[in-house]
Amino acid sequence: MTGELFLCATPIGNLEDITYRVVRTLSEVDVIAAEDTRNSIKLLNHFNIKTPLTSYHEYNKYDKAKVLVGRMLAGENVACISDAGTPGISDPGEVLVREALDAGIKVTSLPGACACITALTLSGLPTRRFAFEAFLPADKKERADVLEELKTETRTIIIYEAPHHLAKTLKELADALGDRKVSIVRELTKVHEENFETTLSEAVNYYGENEPRGEYVLVIAGKPASELKEEREFSFRELDIPSHMKIYTDKGIDEKEAMKLVAKDRGVPKREIYDALKR
Ligand code: SAM
Repeated sequence: MTGELFLCATPIGNLEDITYRVVRTLSEVDVIAAEDTRNSIKLLNHFNIKTPLTSYHEYNKYDKAKVLVGRMLAGENVACISDAGTPGISDPGEVLVREALDAGIKVTSLPGACACITALTLSGLPTRRFAFEAFLPADKKERADVLEELKTETRTIIIYEAPHHLAKTLKELADALGDRKVSIVRELTKVHEENFETTLSEAVNYYGENEPRGEYVLVIAGKPASELKEEREFSFRELDIPSHMKIYTDKGIDEKEAMKLVAKDRGVPKREIYDALKR
């Protein structure tokens, strides 16, 4: 019989944040694929789990996923864990899940700690809609593109960052987004857990003088939708109405529909567009 894949969330600091189900599953599977086996052995020892470990990480994930799928097809059950938190969230896991599903293997995700959700709920910022950006890309061009996109993001934004890059990232965010509310959440579930509610510009000053220590999540207020609407209306009003209409008619949109869209963009009644075009 084919084996199964179990994605097991592990604590992001406090060892009590492991579920009974994860402990049982880790004890019962044939092998545990772990990001860093030296790190994970401490977790297994703490819970007296004797299951063998095998390494599955960023640098072997494609080849190793195939090996693990082979083992599951041969009947073994495999658990996947990362260094901390939910496997697949800014951690290897995604590739293994894809390979397993493609091979017809049953995948079960066992929920538990995840830094982004824990930080969001603690932040005091709106939680209904959010955009998880993980780590900003290291590549200059990709990073600039993401920052550009974030300028108009109205949802709460969540970003992971390492302490040695924090000050630079805050500066880039302040430059791109302007002064926004930010909750700088650090050391979640650990002794020095903290939610520093501030603004991007104050945070740039603060970390210019204080060295960041520990693990950080940035939770940033989205752009108010009313502000975005006002800016869009303003920039459209810079165009004359025929040029504005052309944006849509060039896309193959018929004149009647284009008038509706132009009226919406400019925040005016459709009649006004119609009258202006007739003149
Ligand atoms: N898979 C993990 C999860 O479920 O959140 C994320 C792993 S990612 C490689 C590591 C990043 O997550 C850190 O750089 C930090 O931004 C965030 N993180 C992990 N543990 C954290 C903690 N205890 N406090 C604050 N941030 C944490």
